[in-house]
Formats: sequence, C-alpha cells, structure tokens
Amino acid sequence: MRLTAKIKLVYDEELGGTLFRTVALANACCEWLSEQAWSVKKFRKYDLQKMFYYGARETFSDLSAQCIIRCIAKVADSYKKDKKKQRSFTPLGAIAYDLRILSWKPDIVNIWTVDGRKKIPYVCGERQAALLKTQQGETDLLLQDGHFYLATCCDVAEPEVNTINYQQPLGVDFGVVNIATDSDGKVYSGSRLKNIRFRHRRLRTALQKANTKSAERHLRKLSGKEARFARDTNHVISKQIVRSAKGTCRGIAVEDLSGIRDRITARRKQRAVLHSWSFLQLRSFLEYKAALAGVPVVAIDARNTSRECSECGYIDKRNRKTQDKFCCLSCGHTDNADKNAARVIASRVNVSTPIVVVAQTVAASPRLQAWGS
Ligand SMILES: [Zn+2]
Repeated sequence: MRLTAKIKLVYDEELGGTLFRTVALANACCEWLSEQAWSVKKFRKYDLQKMFYYGARETFSDLSAQCIIRCIAKVADSYKKDKKKQRSFTPLGAIAYDLRILSWKPDIVNIWTVDGRKKIPYVCGERQAALLKTQQGETDLLLQDGHFYLATCCDVAEPEVNTINYQQPLGVDFGVVNIATDSDGKVYSGSRLKNIRFRHRRLRTALQKANTKSAERHLRKLSGKEARFARDTNHVISKQIVRSAKGTCRGIAVEDLSGIRDRITARRKQRAVLHSWSFLQLRSFLEYKAALAGVPVVAIDARNTSRECSECGYIDKRNRKTQDKFCCLSCGHTDNADKNAARVIASRVNVSTPIVVVAQTVAASPRLQAWGS
C-alpha cells in the first residue's frame, strides 16, 4: 500500500532563503522548459532532454544536472494528459527529488540546493516516522503556509488479517447528527466540531457583509482553520473505530461509497451540514488506519439500513419513528436508530462480501494519498 509521509523541515532564516531560491529557480526552469516544449510542440521526455537539456543548463546554471533532469520529467509529465494547452508552473510549486539529490538519515535529510548539498534536520510524528522506514521513490519539496515540508512516497506492507472474525464485524453507520455510530452502540459525535462550525458560520455571514480586504483575509483563515479541525476530528474518530475493532478481533463493516454519496445529495435540508462534513475523508482515514492495523474493512450495500430491523429483518419506513428512535412495527424491537442501522450494516456482511482493497483505493487517488499524511 502506498502512502505519503509529510514531514516538517527545521531550518534557520539563511537556509530558508536557500530553499526558497531552490524552489523558485526549479519552477522557473520548468516554466522555461514548458515554453520551449510548446514552441516546438514536442512533449516526450526523451525529446525534451535531447533538445533542451544543454539550453536549460546554460540558462539555469545554478541548478544541478540531476535537478534539470527532474524538471524535464515534470514538464513532460504535465503534458501527458493534454497536449492542446500550454502548461504553466506556479513560481513556488512543489519540486520533485529522487534519491540522487536527496537521501534520508534518521532525523536528518541530505538534500541538494542551489547552494550545494545541505543536511537539514526534520521533525515528524510517530506515524510518519514509522512510514519513513518504508520510504521509496520520489520526494516533493513543498512550501505550505510559509514553511517548507517534504512529502515522500512510502510503501507499507499490509499486515496479515487471518485472525480476524469476519462473521461478526463491527458495523459503522455514518450519520448527520452523530458523525458515526457503531453496532456496539458507541457514538462518535464530533459535537465540538459542530459548535465551531456554527460559530464560524455566523462570523462568516458578518464578514461577508463587511466585504473589505481584511474581512476577506479573515474569511480565508477561517476556512483553513475549519478544514484543519475537521481533519483532526476525522483522524480521532477513525482511530477510535479501528481501535475498537482491533481490540475485539473484528473487521469493520461500512456502507459502500455510493450510499454515502447518495446520502450527501439526498436530504436537502441538511445539505449545508453534510457538504461541509467530509465523510469521504473519514472513510479514507478509516481504510488506511485499518489497513495499517491489519483490520479488514468490508463495504456493504446500504439500501434501507435505516428502515430495517436488526432483530427480525422487517423493513418499513415507519420503523424509524424519529431521527434517533427506532421501533420495529413487526417484532417491537426498539433501539437507538443509528445503532440499529450499524447493526444492520454488520449483519449484511457474509463470507462472499469482498474486502475493500485499500492498496488500490489509496494508490488510485492522489487526493486520498494526501489525506493519508
Ligand atoms: Zn423487528
């Protein structure tokens, strides 16, 4: 399974300036190469290297040979999908390193810059440190919120899943009022998040009315803050669910993604809440954390899970009395509605239910990869 580890570089002002000039120059080189490629309408890496390598070395004499090769690869890559439009490179976009111009040591990375090779310390969390042990292939140097980070590819072996009880998984129901409820009845509410959202929404309305430059800046800051908080909440909730499942040797059953998407578009009234709530992110966190812990995740067809009785299987819209109360019209079983739904989800897993292949899900989507870090 391929995941991305993002780590923070530690540097002083002088070194920061060096990194800044390195990133700026490499991007300028990409921009120049893109112009040349466009002018002759040749976009293959081989052709670009043959035609423009020496020109690039002359024009950007502070860049190393290997760095220019990476730039050529990046420009060729950018034209792969669409050759009908000239590509442009942002002045401070991420630049790619391979192992010839960057090497990893414990706590220190040896990296090429416009001022020669530099040894730069870095800091990272426990998970990132574990991931780094499996580091493989390319690394991006990126400038984010005024600080330099490295984002690097890691190839994690998926653990054995043989000891898991497939027959009785932990069912998880994603909801609006409670972000998630499991079949044991545990509620993952994220209520702090909702409060923050509510406060922010009022503030946002006021700021939008003000319509000044500083209000605009404040709004941007607000949305970044909210996204970071939502992301943290998703990390916490997915971690708790995986821990519950692993602690009891069970797999995890969730509704398939189409179910989640339907729900996102279905209930119009709750749209604002749902749209801003990132179920897909939560789902992807759940998948990769489960994979790392050796807990299988199975996805089931979620039709009618909120209307079916987890005791007798009777399906009726009227079984769900209110948002949180479930009462079966056939057998009289009563339960919290979200817990009942989670139990129905768990009960739908059978031997033939395919396990979600995390490796593919993550590898197929750079977006999910980014979420993984
Ligand atoms: Zn019933």
